[in-house]
Amino acid sequence: MLQISKLNAWYGASHALQDISLEVSRGEIVCLIGRNGAGKTTTLKSIMGLMGRTRGSVTFKGEELLRQPAHVRFALGLAYVPEERRIVQGLSVRENLRLGLVASKQKKREAELIEEIAVIFPRLAERMDQEAVTMSGGEQQMLAIARAMIAKPDLIMLDEPSEGIMPVLVDEMFELFRSMKAQGTTVLLVEQNVELALGIADRAYVLDQGSVVHQASAQALLADNEIKERYCSV
Ligand code: ATP
Repeated sequence: MLQISKLNAWYGASHALQDISLEVSRGEIVCLIGRNGAGKTTTLKSIMGLMGRTRGSVTFKGEELLRQPAHVRFALGLAYVPEERRIVQGLSVRENLRLGLVASKQKKREAELIEEIAVIFPRLAERMDQEAVTMSGGEQQMLAIARAMIAKPDLIMLDEPSEGIMPVLVDEMFELFRSMKAQGTTVLLVEQNVELALGIADRAYVLDQGSVVHQASAQALLADNEIKERYCSV
């Protein structure tokens, strides 16, 4: 579904990604792991069209994306939940969810889609009319994921979803990822909590200094203490 070949990206003169190649098949959960600064966030931003200078190839459902702006990539079925959740202050949970449909073709079915997402995210269902920023960090993270899911993307990219969230909600969130996968959503996940991520992933790529240094099934990587110690600060 997603194929990345020799992707390079720069911040000014700094060459942040060097010849990254990876792929994600329909229905998979693929995880990117590696130390701080390895290039995980930059990879997701490059896929979504949020990096200034990039070179190489990113194809999604057979279409070359690298010269396409982010909104075209969104319309093709890509979604991205950045580490900073960007929940809008002053808006309720429901209004934040509506924002997820603003650029989507499914706006007419808004009420129906909000109902559907509320079934998947019961914590949000109870808080629809509450101001979103008054919720806990974990609940806001759930909202950011729900807002990205509401337009029914084919592939959702999640950057550090467990960051700063209390353990009970992290468990709930990862259960949710399992059920998203069971319903056919494809997930590209960046996660510092390697054991947790590999517990739900099919495959993983290890990044270091802007390059892919290892790839393996999640199961094989879980058992590979040498790689985990060398590249993942666990
Ligand atoms: P983290 O978990 O810390 O976010 P990461 O693996 O996601 O790490 P990136 O954020 O992709 O890593 O960073 C890759 C490299 O690009 C690092 O060397 C980082 O310092 C650099 N970098 C990231 N953002 C910028 C920026 N806005 N301007 C310049 N350099 C940047």
